[in-house]
Amino acid sequence: MMTPGNLSGQGDRRVALVTGGARGIGLEIVRRLLADGYQVAFVATRAEHVERALESLSCPEDRLYAEAIDVTRQNEVERFIDRVQARWGDIATLVNNAGISPKRADQDAPWLSQMSLEEWARVIDVNLKGPFILIRLLAPEMIAKGYGRIINIGSLAGRAMPLIAGPHYATSKAGLVGLTRAAARDLAPNGITVNCIAPGRILSDLTGPPEAVVNRSALSRIPVGRFGTAEEVAHVVAFLASPLAGFITGATIDITGGEFAA
Ligand code: NDP
Repeated sequence: MMTPGNLSGQGDRRVALVTGGARGIGLEIVRRLLADGYQVAFVATRAEHVERALESLSCPEDRLYAEAIDVTRQNEVERFIDRVQARWGDIATLVNNAGISPKRADQDAPWLSQMSLEEWARVIDVNLKGPFILIRLLAPEMIAKGYGRIINIGSLAGRAMPLIAGPHYATSKAGLVGLTRAAARDLAPNGITVNCIAPGRILSDLTGPPEAVVNRSALSRIPVGRFGTAEEVAHVVAFLASPLAGFITGATIDITGGEFAA
């Protein structure tokens, strides 16, 4: 029986690339795809985080490969992809998970008027240009193969009134929904699906500890009465990456515990 984790008969579709795989949601996505039988390559910015993740995953080198690179630098991404392909062949699954969300101590201060162009550009670059670079570089080999799975990690902040995130973050994640639809339209005739997952509040380094004031107040808005887990996001990635999800493309799937602020 076909299950999301069953890769039998998928011999040339086993290689997955995950960005931001060293911590939080990305690390759980890496863990889940490894458990499902993929060979997984991941990147993060800091070498010590990459090393720590590799140690915690403790997986043989023929299943797991990682480097510290910045997804906004096309030449670094290109070289990384070359090295993954040299080891394992074509990459059939891409998970654009790397993201940043700079916060302000004073959440009520007006952000747009006070934000530097540099801060704005950095968030748009990591959260939106990075996924574009990865999609652009990997699409040709997926097209040649006639198969591909692209999963972008968006955010509730890009789908609803952003209550905690900054305007640059909300804009980048709303843009990712647009990029998902545009790429899905472009690549559908080639057997490639492109989808977006929009998590609500998931505890990680990005969101901080549950007892933080901002999280206590966020909890009161989540109908199911708890935060989400990185594993719950990873389950949906595993499903979208599987052959079972072949008729889902251009979609954005909310994982928010029912939260959808207007
Ligand atoms: P974390 O901050 O815990 O982890 C982010 C990961 O991305 C880290 O491994 C980091 O590398 C990596 N990264 C950041 N910038 C770059 C870059 N320029 N190049 C390569 N790697 C980079 O975040 P989360 O796990 O919480 O979030 C993962 C994704 O989910 C993000 O896109 C986020 O926007 C989204 N999301 C998260 C939510 C949440 O509640 N946590 C809610 C909605 C969306 P390093 O470890 O080296 O710093």
